[in-house]
Amino acid sequence: MRASIVIVGAGQAGLQIAESLRAEGFEGGVVLLAGENFPPYQRPPLSKAWLLGEVPEQRLFLRGPDFFAAKNIDLRLGAVVTAIDRAGKQVILADGSVENYTGLALATGARARRPVIAGADLAGVCVLRDVADAKNIAHRLSRAQNVVVIGGGFIGLEVAAAARKKGRAVKVVEALDRLMARAVTPKISGFFADLHRAHGVELRFSTKVAALEGDEGKVETVVTALDEQIPADLVILGIGAVANDELAEAAGLATSHGIVVDSCGKTSDPHIVAAGDCTVWRRDDGQLRRLESVQNAVEQGKAAAASLLGRSNPFVATPWFWSDQYDVKLQMAGLSQGFEACVERKTGENAFSLFYFRHDNLIAVDSVNRPGEHLLARKLLDAGISPDMAQVADPASDLRGLLR
Ligand SMILES: Cc1cc2nc3c(=O)[nH]c(=O)nc-3n(C[C@H](O)[C@H](O)[C@H](O)COP(=O)(O)OP(=O)(O)OC[C@H]3O[C@@H](n4cnc5c(N)ncnc54)[C@H](O)[C@@H]3O)c2cc1C
Repeated sequence: MRASIVIVGAGQAGLQIAESLRAEGFEGGVVLLAGENFPPYQRPPLSKAWLLGEVPEQRLFLRGPDFFAAKNIDLRLGAVVTAIDRAGKQVILADGSVENYTGLALATGARARRPVIAGADLAGVCVLRDVADAKNIAHRLSRAQNVVVIGGGFIGLEVAAAARKKGRAVKVVEALDRLMARAVTPKISGFFADLHRAHGVELRFSTKVAALEGDEGKVETVVTALDEQIPADLVILGIGAVANDELAEAAGLATSHGIVVDSCGKTSDPHIVAAGDCTVWRRDDGQLRRLESVQNAVEQGKAAAASLLGRSNPFVATPWFWSDQYDVKLQMAGLSQGFEACVERKTGENAFSLFYFRHDNLIAVDSVNRPGEHLLARKLLDAGISPDMAQVADPASDLRGLLR
């Protein structure tokens, strides 16, 4: 039988798997099932430049219209998979058709988390995950007066910045006591809190939302647990994402808030791999780690494609991520959790990097408007090179020399 690989989900990870299969010389069938009616596109601009009308829709697409035919990748739009039959080695689609596979890749991504509170279904209460969500928000943003962002994470804050650029009144309500608390250190949180306040955003910390109230089906008020009533005609729910792992779970694959994979993208079934936001990755120390980023989707996609071909290409690169808010670019390399020392390397008011060390070893670097330093940090971290702390603190010292 001719080998045929079926990929469920045509986002960043699904596309990467298809592309890597061809790059690795696989000549069998590659079927890329896109649940959405769009060819693979990038999501990061949806909360940034696209929301401000600075990026035309065409530029969201990750590959040109001729790419899929040229690579002999059978891209099918609007093809939603409803079940996996592992014994029969086939997937079942919503239209009742089936697709046989010799190897299966799951790249189903994640969806925006919705709070279980009254009023979450009112008109004007929006999440941001896909193009349709972004169009809905852009449309409402053009008329809204009072925007309330629930959740001070990356996506919520990027939308807050876009809304301020459009001159809307913006309030951010965050349940924890600082911004982006799960991903950045208090110093970075503080910098961004000051930045948003300087742009006129009102921040409410340690505040839970109890309900959303409206009139004639449209949201009008955000009610906090302390019974504060905040006027709102547009509410953005930015409280994180949930992995789309239900297909895998129903098929009996190991899941734990994501499809459990190893560093090669292998699931608990030898014929099935998974990559991207739908996964949770079991590290060598046994701990499960979930990363939602373009880099993770791309690198896991490469690893998963190699596994489907019986090769080993584990994902070992240093994690990195970025966020654009106003004229500030935050770029993170490595994971700073558990750091013991933090050294600042500052070159201007809004231009600095924080280097994090544990046991004198460099473990992460957060850079604000320092793209060159971010790239250098990734190279240092990948190579396991730790600069001297005094050298880091002196912005005149050349850290690039460490790589020679
Ligand atoms: C607004 C926004 C801003 C972001 N900004 C950044 C950023 O600045 N930097 C960064 O690194 N990351 C950012 N991210 C995260 C990044 O976009 C994701 O990590 C990345 O898209 C994950 O790729 P993926 O392929 O795993 O999932 P997705 O891109 O979500 O693709 C999964 C696809 O699978 C489809 N699918 C799901 N179930 C099925 C099914 N049963 N059948 C068929 N198809 C199915 C979905 O419809 C979707 O199209 C952002 C995300 C969002 C939403």
